Amino acid sequence: MSKMTVPLLDLKGQFATIRAEVMPLIDQVCSSQMFILGEHVRLLEQEVARYCGAAEGIGVSSGTDALLVALMALDIGPGDEVITSPYTFFATAGTIARVGARPVFCDIDPRTFNLSVPRVQEFIERHCTVKDGQLVNARTGGRVRALMPVHLYGQTVDMQPLMQIAREHRLRVIEDAAQAIGTEYLNGARIGSIGDIGCFSFFPSKNLGAFGDAGLCTANDPELAERLRVLRVHGSKPKYFHALIGGNFRLDELQAAVLRVKLKHLDAWTTARQDNAAFYDAQFQSAGVSGQLTTPYAMPGCRHIYNQYIVRVKNRDGLKAHLSERGVGTEIYYPMSLHQQECFKYLGYKTGDFPESEGAAAETLALPIYPELSPEQLAYVAASVAEFYT
Ligand SMILES: *Cc1c(COP(=O)(O)O)cnc(C)c1O
Repeated sequence: MSKMTVPLLDLKGQFATIRAEVMPLIDQVCSSQMFILGEHVRLLEQEVARYCGAAEGIGVSSGTDALLVALMALDIGPGDEVITSPYTFFATAGTIARVGARPVFCDIDPRTFNLSVPRVQEFIERHCTVKDGQLVNARTGGRVRALMPVHLYGQTVDMQPLMQIAREHRLRVIEDAAQAIGTEYLNGARIGSIGDIGCFSFFPSKNLGAFGDAGLCTANDPELAERLRVLRVHGSKPKYFHALIGGNFRLDELQAAVLRVKLKHLDAWTTARQDNAAFYDAQFQSAGVSGQLTTPYAMPGCRHIYNQYIVRVKNRDGLKAHLSERGVGTEIYYPMSLHQQECFKYLGYKTGDFPESEGAAAETLALPIYPELSPEQLAYVAASVAEFYT
């Protein structure tokens, strides 16, 4: 096998395919000198909302700010607690802490790497009481206000039983859909249309990536959507009058113009990612490495958009070094669970509290999966992985 270079992600190929569509729009926005909350933002909001099956879209400055403004819109703050996954990007729990609330972790399902609904149920049964109709964490005395499921790597959380828990205990649901645009739960229900607020990121490495930072919230309740819209501009409504304290969470017009072009291509890119995943699955199966390598589990009847293709392996660090030596880019998402992070020491968790999350952090590796990979590159990556185990 002669050596090739396959980066984990290369956005230049994608840009080449859309350059002729995008550049005139960038020129048009520059000519208009209307950079803030213009027509492209308004149209993108409608288009993404429609794409996700949600009533409303509110463009914001990043996926992180989408989560932050969602928590603010639901009035979650000091004395409140939000249940989420310890195995996710930092922003999920980081934003909960930033509004003064407490992140409460429940372990993941080792097959999907997503928040385990039975573990959430168990936490509520064993550690919570009900006071004046409000779910309370018995240990801390905090009000449990919301659930923040994360659709990690582009795969849906098991939403039906999670929404059942939310209804039963009057919890709000903020979906961290940063990696899940176009992801579907059962019966074609799109992520962003199921919980109270869906939070999307258009960070360049996401499936729908801007030319910089950008994000969006979806909501079905028009009042909640209006609150998000007002909070996005410092809580100003009418201008210079503030009933709420918001922030500057606006989406740039230039980014919206780029994203509108890219959205039209998203389904084709998703199909290419799914085809790449199916190719790897088949290659690892036929190479006979299934004893040492577990391919990604995809929930039956749901649409996985493969923001990442994650293998679970023995000797992960050895495989990573081998692939690096072969010219194949990989990444570890995420090497340390959030309950073990130094900044969350005050939450009182310790190593061993979430064994599935810690196990995933030790044994998973992301392989290149982006749509523009050539058949030769895909075959090279699969062969390089197989070579390590045979
Ligand atoms: C990318 C990401 C975010 C943050 O999005 P930004 O646009 O980078 O702020 C939040 N949560 C998850 C799970 C992510 O992957």
